[in-house]
Amino acid sequence: MAALDCIFCQIIRDKIPSEIVFRDKKFIVFKDIHPKAEIHFLIVPVRHIESVDVLKKTDKALAGEMILLAQALAKKFKIQGRYKLVFNVGRGGGQLVEHIHLHLLSGWPRVGK
Ligand code: 5GP
Ligand code: ZN
Repeated sequence: MAALDCIFCQIIRDKIPSEIVFRDKKFIVFKDIHPKAEIHFLIVPVRHIESVDVLKKTDKALAGEMILLAQALAKKFKIQGRYKLVFNVGRGGGQLVEHIHLHLLSGWPRVGK
């Protein structure tokens, strides 16, 4: 998919509105439009990379920074010790948007009391 047709690239360029919780030169983080948990953020590099499958050794720092950004957001939103980080990879892995992103999820409905 070309970056021009990419939904996340359009969010990065402010062409599509989103609830942004963090942004800097390298990353944008916004709320998932269909949240699967109380907190559901998408951590997205500004650079258009299709998926984990095409990460290169030169992307090592970027990949690490995504996880450390998740850690910082977990602290900021006071969810340390109770969150999930998920990369869906490829159509077969449930990836619908072909721009790499890390799901940060927290807060599930309690089962029972
Ligand atoms: P994937 O299935 O590719 O790992 O996850 C893509 C996520 O992006 C889905 O959870 C979906 O709800 C979310 N999403 C898709 N389009 C938009 C959009 O236009 N805005 C926002 N905020 N989230 C979106
Ligand atoms: Zn993109």
